Amino acid sequence: MEKLQAIRGMNDILPEQSLGWQFLEACFHSVVKGFGYQEIRFPVLEQTQLFKRSIGAVSDIVEKEMYSFDDRNGDNLSLRPEGTAGCVRAADQHGLLYNQQQRLWYRGPMFRHERPQKGRYRQFHQFGVEAFGMSGPDIDVEVLQVAATLWNELGLTDHLTLEINNIGSADDRKKYSHALTSYLSTKLEKLDDDARNRMHTNPIRVLDSKNLDVQSALVEAPLLCDFVNENSKTDFKKLQELLNKLGIGFLENPRLVRGLDYYNNCVYEWTTDILGAQGAVCGGGRYDGLVQQLGGRATEACGFAIGVERLVLMLDSLDKIPANVLKPLDVYIAVIGENIELEGLKLSQAIRRKYPHLGVVCHCGGGKFNNQLKRAFKSGAEVAVILERDGEGDESLTHAKIRRLDESGDSRLEEIVDIPEKLGEFLKNSAS
Ligand code: AMP
Repeated sequence: MEKLQAIRGMNDILPEQSLGWQFLEACFHSVVKGFGYQEIRFPVLEQTQLFKRSIGAVSDIVEKEMYSFDDRNGDNLSLRPEGTAGCVRAADQHGLLYNQQQRLWYRGPMFRHERPQKGRYRQFHQFGVEAFGMSGPDIDVEVLQVAATLWNELGLTDHLTLEINNIGSADDRKKYSHALTSYLSTKLEKLDDDARNRMHTNPIRVLDSKNLDVQSALVEAPLLCDFVNENSKTDFKKLQELLNKLGIGFLENPRLVRGLDYYNNCVYEWTTDILGAQGAVCGGGRYDGLVQQLGGRATEACGFAIGVERLVLMLDSLDKIPANVLKPLDVYIAVIGENIELEGLKLSQAIRRKYPHLGVVCHCGGGKFNNQLKRAFKSGAEVAVILERDGEGDESLTHAKIRRLDESGDSRLEEIVDIPEKLGEFLKNSAS
C-alpha cells in the first residue's frame, strides 16, 4: 500500500531536532519571564472574519495564503496565519484590555499557503509578545529589548540587524497611498501585473516588490516619511534616542512597510544575511487601531513575532546549540538474565528520584548482553549500568557493573560497585 506523506511545507520535527527547539524555547521562556510577560494560549482555528478585519482583506496573507474552509455548521473558519489577531480577540473577549496594561506572550504553529522553500513553510512556528495599554515609545523599546536580549542569550547578536521605520497613522498612509498611486500611474511600463493590481488596492505593498524593474520605477517615488504627522515623528525620534542610549543598534529603512495592515507608527524587522532569501527572523511594531477595529475599545498596543524555524536554522548553521543540550540521556541500565525486569525498573526509578536532573533509560524488551550494550552506546548515554542475574532467583541484587560509554575512555573497562551506596556515589560524581 502507498505510504502517506506529510503535507508539503509542513515539517515533522524529529527527536534529534527537537533538542535544539527545546533549547530555544527554554531561552525564550526565561527571557520573557525576566521581563514580566505572561503566557496566553488561543486556538489555531478562528473565524475567517477575524483575519480579514485585522490583517486586511487585500493583504497577501488573506487574499492568497489562508487555509480557509466551511465547517460542518457552514461557518467559515481559517487556520491562524499569525498570532496577533487571535491574541487581541482572546484578550478582549476575556476583559484583559479595558483600562489595563498587559504584557503577554504566545507561541505555536501558524499556517500560510506559501511556496515552500528553505525558511518558508506552510506550517511554521512563531514566538510572539504583545503589550497592551501603553502608548510608547518606551514600551516599543522594551519590546525591542526583549528580542535583543534573546539574541544575546542565543549568541546571535552579531548576525542580526534591526531595521526600523515610521509608517505614521492610518490617515497619513491614506494620503501617501493616493500620492503613490498617482506616481505609479506614470510608470506603468515598468510595473508587472502584481504591481499594477496592487497600485489600486494596496499601493504601499508595491514597495515590497522583488521585481528589479518595479524597484527601479520606485527610485523617485514619494517617501512615506514625508507624509507622517508630527506627533508620530516626535515619538519615533525619542524611540531612536532610547535605542541609542541602550546600545541597541538599528538602521532606518524608509521602505520597510510590513505586509499586515494593522500597523501604525513604528514598525521593525530583525534580519540576517545567513539565511539567503528568507532573511527576516522577527517582525513587529505598533498597532493602536486593531483592538477597536475588532470591536473592542481603543487600546494602545505593540508587539512582535519571531519565526522559530528560521532561528533554529541560524542556530544550527552557526553551531550555537550547546553540546550539553544535545545530550538526551545520561544513564542506560542494561538488564541481563532471568527475572531481572523488576530490579531494573526499581533501580532506574531510584536513580531518577535521587538525581532528578539525570535522564535514565532502563532497557526493555530483553536481549543478549551485546545487543543491550549496542543500544546503550546508540542512546547517547554517558554511563551504562549493567544489572546481571546468574541464576533464576528473584532476590535483590547487591552489585552492578558500570561502563563509561564516552569515546574518550576505554569503554570496555568495567567497575563493580555496590548498590545503592557506591552506585549513588559514582553517579553523583560522574553527573556533577
Ligand atoms: P510576519 O507575521 O509575516 O510578520 O512574520 C513574522 C516572522 O515569522 C517572520 O520574520 C519570519 O521569521 C516568520 N515567518 C513568516 N512567514 C513564514 C513562513 N511561511 N515560514 C517560516 N517562517 C515564517
